[in-house]
Amino acid sequence: ASLLPVLDVWRTNLAAKVHRFNFLALSHRLFGDTCPLVSLSCFQTPQRIPYDEAVQQEFRPAAVGDAFGPTWWTCWFKVELSIPREWAGKEVHLLWDSDGEAMVWRDSQPVQVRGGEEISLGALLWVPASLNLYMEVACNGLFGAGKGTMIAPPDPDKKFTLNKVELVVFNRDVHELLVDFEILLDMAKHLGEKNQRSFQALYTANQMVNLCDVTDPSTFPAAHQLASAFFSQRNGESQHTIHAMGHCHIDSAWLWPYEESIRKCARSWVTVVRLMEKNPGFTFTCSQAQQLEWVRNWYPGLYAQIQDFARKGQFIPVGGTWVEMDGNLPNGESMVRQFLQGQRFFQEQFGKLCTEFWLPDTFGYSAQLPQLMRGCGIWRFLTQKLSWSLVNTFPHHTFFWEGIDGSSVLAHFPPGDSYGMQGFVEEMLKTVNNNKDKGRVNHSVALFGFGDGGGGPTQKMLDRMKRMKDVDGLPRVQMSTPDQFFSVLERDGSQLYTWIGELFLELHNGTYTTQAQIKKSNRECERILHDVEVLSSLALAQKSAFPYPATKLQRLWRLLLLNQFHDVLPGTCIQLVAEDAMTYYEEIRAMGTLLLKEAVQSLIGKLLPTGSETAESTVIMNTLPWERTEVISRTRPTGADTLALVKVCSMGYSVFPSGLGPLTSPAPVACVESLDGSITMENGVIAAHLDSMGHVTSLHLVSSGRESVPEGSCANQFVIFDDIPLYWDAWDVMDYHLETRKPVTTLVKPLEIILPGGLRGSVRFSLQISEKSIITQEVILDAMCPYLRFLTQVEWNEAHKFLKVEFPVQARSMNATYEIQFGHLQRPTHWNTSWDWARFEVWSHKWMDLSEHGFGVALLNDSKYGASVHGNTMSLSLLRAPKSPDTTADMGHHQFTYAVMPHLGSFQEAGVIRYAYCLNFPLHTMPADSVQCPAWSAFCVSSPAVVLETVKQASAPRSVLVARLYESHGSTVVTWLQTCLPVKEAITCDLLEQADPTGHLPLKELGVELSFTPFQVISVLLVLG
Ligand SMILES: [Zn+2]
Repeated sequence: ASLLPVLDVWRTNLAAKVHRFNFLALSHRLFGDTCPLVSLSCFQTPQRIPYDEAVQQEFRPAAVGDAFGPTWWTCWFKVELSIPREWAGKEVHLLWDSDGEAMVWRDSQPVQVRGGEEISLGALLWVPASLNLYMEVACNGLFGAGKGTMIAPPDPDKKFTLNKVELVVFNRDVHELLVDFEILLDMAKHLGEKNQRSFQALYTANQMVNLCDVTDPSTFPAAHQLASAFFSQRNGESQHTIHAMGHCHIDSAWLWPYEESIRKCARSWVTVVRLMEKNPGFTFTCSQAQQLEWVRNWYPGLYAQIQDFARKGQFIPVGGTWVEMDGNLPNGESMVRQFLQGQRFFQEQFGKLCTEFWLPDTFGYSAQLPQLMRGCGIWRFLTQKLSWSLVNTFPHHTFFWEGIDGSSVLAHFPPGDSYGMQGFVEEMLKTVNNNKDKGRVNHSVALFGFGDGGGGPTQKMLDRMKRMKDVDGLPRVQMSTPDQFFSVLERDGSQLYTWIGELFLELHNGTYTTQAQIKKSNRECERILHDVEVLSSLALAQKSAFPYPATKLQRLWRLLLLNQFHDVLPGTCIQLVAEDAMTYYEEIRAMGTLLLKEAVQSLIGKLLPTGSETAESTVIMNTLPWERTEVISRTRPTGADTLALVKVCSMGYSVFPSGLGPLTSPAPVACVESLDGSITMENGVIAAHLDSMGHVTSLHLVSSGRESVPEGSCANQFVIFDDIPLYWDAWDVMDYHLETRKPVTTLVKPLEIILPGGLRGSVRFSLQISEKSIITQEVILDAMCPYLRFLTQVEWNEAHKFLKVEFPVQARSMNATYEIQFGHLQRPTHWNTSWDWARFEVWSHKWMDLSEHGFGVALLNDSKYGASVHGNTMSLSLLRAPKSPDTTADMGHHQFTYAVMPHLGSFQEAGVIRYAYCLNFPLHTMPADSVQCPAWSAFCVSSPAVVLETVKQASAPRSVLVARLYESHGSTVVTWLQTCLPVKEAITCDLLEQADPTGHLPLKELGVELSFTPFQVISVLLVLG
């Protein structure tokens, strides 16, 4: 024991001595002789233009010290250089030090980027003759151009400077020696002072220092030899293995626009290709088909090189999706299409399907993902972001993840908690030490390469990891592939734990609400594409000559999928990106409307009027797979709108003659005002009482009298909160916002009756949120409708405020139910444990429900995703006002609808799911000639539990449809899918539309019979005859 203090003193002295070595002088020797350029000239443009166009421009002389810009411009430099003859045989670099991300072009091809300070032109450029290069310098940094902090809105007037340009001789031996020292000293530091190997590393560094004379390069090889001897001392068999894979996380848009991401992809992957040429073992994983498609279109030369390295197994396409989408908000069909578009691209371009889903960076993971992955040929999953959870630490890094239907995938979170490592000793040690499944698993992944803004791996990272390949004291660091890694796990993963249900990220809960217009457009465009596909499929089935718009639909789907990227749909992007996103949505709306018209024309052209004077009837189309009875508004030949109660058949159309309403309601709606200004609305199904401020003070079921608003409470209560996150403004809403709750109580216009009743009753009121913001709401009750609808307009001009609406309800339950993709799940209504209260703000799709036995209340919505139920209060999150990275986020006018539906029995029995669909998929109403025509229904499903979600044309051949259904109640059921379409064959298929070998379904009189387990998604190929 007495020896230890002596050892400590010795070690301290030794460390001090080693660190007195002049490392700075050594690193100054990295570059030797220098030589100026022959000439330098430039031209600037606000556009991102192709190379061919750029080189045609007039270049003006430029010099070191020149400033260029502003932000988002591009400065093209023409660089003329000549390497001195006497440098023959030396490694020559072009030192380029400027602000802004840059690409080097040579002979019309992108060849290299500015990585850090220097560009290694190395072996590429050994020609003594003169040579011309072009530098395409983007006026933005790796993370855009935030003013002050990274996520602040971009500074539009930023100037960029050229600091240094010259040719230099690069001393490779100095570089190697510096990396040797770095690894040894990092081992000495991070293995711990009591560690034997740490001592040895320090001692080796000391010996190298003894040998090394900075002024005499002839001493370097011997020092390098000592390090190599140390690094060649091998591990024992039991050592942990790290599967290192190059990676480069490129946000498809974030703090920069989509267009810049195209160049980011090219810049990052040019580097990767150059590294692959020099390092045959180097592997790189590349996700997001959209980004590869960009490079295919804009950089075909580079793309050909990528495909070459893909064939060699070094450049590895992964993930299987079109983009790395948000993991919460896209609907079930959108998620299917992410995989369908992605996998098809990977199959066509790289000859194989991905076997792993790759989503390192997203803000939560739907419990439906395992089933969707499985259906798309994927059984492995890699992510990382869950390590950002603020409250609870997820208990595993390697585990089986089971979805709501019971499907399971093998999941891995790199235990180093990063998808952008740099190959440091510390990161590799963290990977081993942090691993939560020690014993069960002896393999981990380390993803290295600069990420988020792109960049990717560098030679220095590779040089570090080469040294750590198998060094006693460190985990083995081996270049690997996802397939090698997961295959090892599958061989000895029998002891792994299983996590069931969603992977909820306890952070970034504001992303369910931020940028409401993007979210609303996403919901709307999901509906438009659904309707276009349904109606075009019916048109195709009716007339085989109908030109199903497959190519146009592919383009629209890809735009929608792109906008579901994990910084766009969540609303965490800059204003430029939000504007781009809205332009894409506009294209989907415009083209979608046109395609709908074409499908309708083909389907019922004979019914449509030739001139407006003949349009006396109305044709109503229903794209949902059940019969609906609803009040619709239709325009009469006189131009006046009238209401009608109609019953429309399932997924088809009905024609209604002019004159009286097609149906008369058994109980008309009545709105009655009391002396105190309050109003009662009633339709024989529900009755609501609203006070003059629009509060719902009573809402009961007429038949049973069951009340849903607790005594003394107000439902439809708007509340506003201070919403000041710690850092991630657009991303986060912190739990402490709940302490600042203030009801909105300033009345602008008291409640008044707009429509007194009949088929529809409605009332309206306005509230002042602040001097700058106002809510106007129309509360609508339709005949026979079981829910009260709130058509809401908000003028919103706040800063760091959060608007919600609350519905306290008379129902008690430990759990509330929320709709997710193709199903639903439950989350607690209490805050018992940290896992419970960390979910103070959650996400939901079209509906949520709080039920006790026999009774419950559902809240439906047409465009919202943020929600919570605490105790008996249901809240829907409406609008936020973050200022970073977009100061204009959510400012201005908003319109949205939500609805409250009290019900007897369970929400399944009450039809909540169907009503939520109805709210989101309005009936299509068109004037028609006054002809007699029977109702026509293309599909119907016998079980109320099963939803026919999608009908579309299969990818091939063109006379095959795909019908996708899911079990929505969480039950095991058998159902009939009936159709009047000329179907001659029905075969079940996977989500990639590949027929199941044993999937032939007998066609019977009632259609085809399908058996479902809870939340199962089944797709059927319908071959048209
Ligand atoms: Zn990201």
